Amino acid sequence: MSAQIIDGKAFAAALRGRIATKVAALRDAGGRAPGLAVVLVGEDPASAVYVRNKHKATIAAGMASFEYRLPADTEQDELLTLVASLNADPAVDGILVQLPLPPQIDADTVLMAIDPDKDVDGFHPVNAGRLATGLPGFVPCTPYGCVMLLKDQLGDLAGLDAVVIGRSNIVGKPMAQLLIAESCTVTVAHSKTRDLPGIVHRADIVVAAVGRPEMIKGEWIKPGAVVIDVGINRTDDGLIGDVDFNGAASVASAITPVPGGVGPMTIACLLRNTLISASRRQGVALDLAEL
Ligand code: NDP
Repeated sequence: MSAQIIDGKAFAAALRGRIATKVAALRDAGGRAPGLAVVLVGEDPASAVYVRNKHKATIAAGMASFEYRLPADTEQDELLTLVASLNADPAVDGILVQLPLPPQIDADTVLMAIDPDKDVDGFHPVNAGRLATGLPGFVPCTPYGCVMLLKDQLGDLAGLDAVVIGRSNIVGKPMAQLLIAESCTVTVAHSKTRDLPGIVHRADIVVAAVGRPEMIKGEWIKPGAVVIDVGINRTDDGLIGDVDFNGAASVASAITPVPGGVGPMTIACLLRNTLISASRRQGVALDLAEL
């Protein structure tokens, strides 16, 4: 193995620490603690773990956590009523409705109902449009975490060839937008892409967000590339990424492990978005460069 292992867990812990310091400064200045409302509908075990972890991290950062657990048979209108009340609640700076939702609820309808200025997940079409046009808004947490790790590793990303494998609205597409904003030359690959190995082999930066265990082979990676593995695949051998870690680590210059790479960055960036929202809503200037 030659690649440096990118320690997302340590990076995220340090980021959460910086966020907690900013929250304390906001409160010292007479401000209100940033408030994050998380809504869980049903009993999906993975979602329950995510929601519990978000709650713990929110409290640890000195923020207010509002948790809503609704039964699996909740009607869409009841959820929309809750979202409307959270939109109107001045103590709530961020609203997150945990996906997936039960079949009787249309996720797009619910996400569209969230006030875009409280949409700390960055999934609302208004925020997708803001990202695409370079306006300030909320950027989806996982891709933003990937960019933070890449900039920490490589510094300026301008001019680098980047390949994003996956084009979902929550990872692949915003990831591509963020890399374009960093002046990378970006290729987005997906299930219909021809010659994926050849395309990956050109890239200085490879971001894998597919959801297929170890699909990206080590021999596809250009020597010295930086590999960011977003994939979380639950297998009998535990959590596995989308990249053949051992193969890729023997040629890449740096690679994120699974677990302990991108995963911890998602919650840290959610807290970052919530802090940004609170500072905007309270009219307190925040030096984002320090975050
Ligand atoms: P989606 O299933 O929404 O998207 C998967 C993408 O991969 C699609 O664009 C699909 O292409 C593409 N794809 C599927 N098969 C192939 C193939 N054989 N070759 C090339 N591309 C392919 O997944 P998400 O974007 O939501 O998530 C991706 C992974 O990231 C999952 O493992 C998920 O668990 C993980 N994840 C991790 C997070 C974290 O915090 N670390 C957060 C969010 C997700 P097409 O569009 O053509 O179907």
